[in-house]
Amino acid sequence: MPHLSRTDLDVFARRLQARRRALIAEIRQEIEDDDDEHSVALRDQFDSLDPHDDRAVSDWVRDVGIAQVVRDTRELDEVETALRRVADQSYGACMDCDEAIPRARLEASPAAVRCVPCQQRIEARSGGVGSGL
Ligand SMILES: [Zn+2]
Repeated sequence: MPHLSRTDLDVFARRLQARRRALIAEIRQEIEDDDDEHSVALRDQFDSLDPHDDRAVSDWVRDVGIAQVVRDTRELDEVETALRRVADQSYGACMDCDEAIPRARLEASPAAVRCVPCQQRIEARSGGVGSGL
């Protein structure tokens, strides 16, 4: 089944982790730009989150529901899903049909967890609003 070597997985994992850090920094920045009381309280909460806990950050951001960060959050979610699949060694296989996701697709979108046909099916079902992955 795995068409990716351990080395390949490490490379993709590093890219995903770098992307995750960048997204968290971006989200932090977006909260930073706001100075009302609510945002200040959010910042305190944000700083108390464990940056090494894969779930905590995206769960928290989803709960907060800040409009500007929704797009980043969605990508963060995808990145975290992909990282979990690296951890359980299912990365590189389509989440839905279990076919190998073409390497070129992973190179272009390391967070892709579905093959193109399955991703298109999902996007068609959700009204055509996709992440572009
Ligand atoms: Zn598929």
